[in-house]
Amino acid sequence: MAEALVTIREAEVVVATAPLVTPFRIATGQHDRMENVFLRLKADNGIYGYGEAAVASHITGETVTGTRDTLQAAADRLVGRTVSDLPELVEEFSPCFTGNHAGLAAFEAALLDIYSRTRGIPLHALFSPPPGCSPRYSFQSDITIVIGSLEEAERAAQRYAAQGFTTFKIKIGRDHELDLVRVRAVRRAAPDSSLILDANMGFTADAMLAFLRRLEGMGIRPALVEQPVPKADWEGLAMVTREAARSGILVCADESVGSLAEAERAIASHTVSAINIKFMKSGIAEAARIARFASVHGIRLMLGAMMESSLAITTAAHFAAGMGCFDFIDLDTTFFISGPFAHSPYLDAGGRFNLAAAGPGIGVAPPLG
Ligand SMILES: [Mg+2]
Repeated sequence: MAEALVTIREAEVVVATAPLVTPFRIATGQHDRMENVFLRLKADNGIYGYGEAAVASHITGETVTGTRDTLQAAADRLVGRTVSDLPELVEEFSPCFTGNHAGLAAFEAALLDIYSRTRGIPLHALFSPPPGCSPRYSFQSDITIVIGSLEEAERAAQRYAAQGFTTFKIKIGRDHELDLVRVRAVRRAAPDSSLILDANMGFTADAMLAFLRRLEGMGIRPALVEQPVPKADWEGLAMVTREAARSGILVCADESVGSLAEAERAIASHTVSAINIKFMKSGIAEAARIARFASVHGIRLMLGAMMESSLAITTAAHFAAGMGCFDFIDLDTTFFISGPFAHSPYLDAGGRFNLAAAGPGIGVAPPLG
């Protein structure tokens, strides 16, 4: 089982930037460009493996320089090491990434990439579904309508609907009155679409429930509301979950849940009906543990992303395919990135992923120069 597969010969950390098509604005801050940390590994068989850390300082508090330094220190230790038991190797290195989950995600992805490329199998084949689920190789991402003016929301929704998107994730939480008319504008631009509202902690529980009642009065009922209240307000979250369930609206934790321990607590206390899992919050192995635990407890799952380029987005798409347990795919950030970092071979202009014929590894070599 633990037979030596490859030995890591080179490990290089590169910070790369790319412009955005439009600033990615949410209630708590914004991204004006992509600035991510990449890990490139080379094995003794000549095969490369890539991983990406998408640092979202305004969400996680992690920084690009901190992530680069952490990743470089781990990468230096990795050179000369033989990859045989991958989970054991990741386990050994994970203490290097305490407080730096984006760095851990990059480290894990690069090793998974090199391991699956060497074995000649697509990355998704390394993940196994929770009980009751099976691999699913095609699925469609939602598309985000970022915080902005009414006109911006209207134009974006029209454009994305024309591209073929069918689920819209509307960022709300900065100006509640404007949010109401923005949501209505998106509904009008795409009448048959499914709506997700992501408040990024911008409401109190009472304000969120009042907002949903006013939407209901307009004949609009979102499928899911994400993180309505501040991350430590578990009581408020539970209250929104309870009340929204009467209208069949799911309530999803994002900022409140980043680890298996937090997921266990949220599920045991009936605080949410859904969880948004992201590699950049927990790393990849922990993401699989959260997905497995939540899935067997009947919690609906979303797979989300920070400002990730096609490398991390495609890694996540493999994960979604192999696990087969995600009801909501929120892997749309490449649509906000301009240039070669946006291209994934398995993603079309309408946000549809198809990994049925995926080649070895992740299938993306980022343009690091
Ligand atoms: Mg969110």
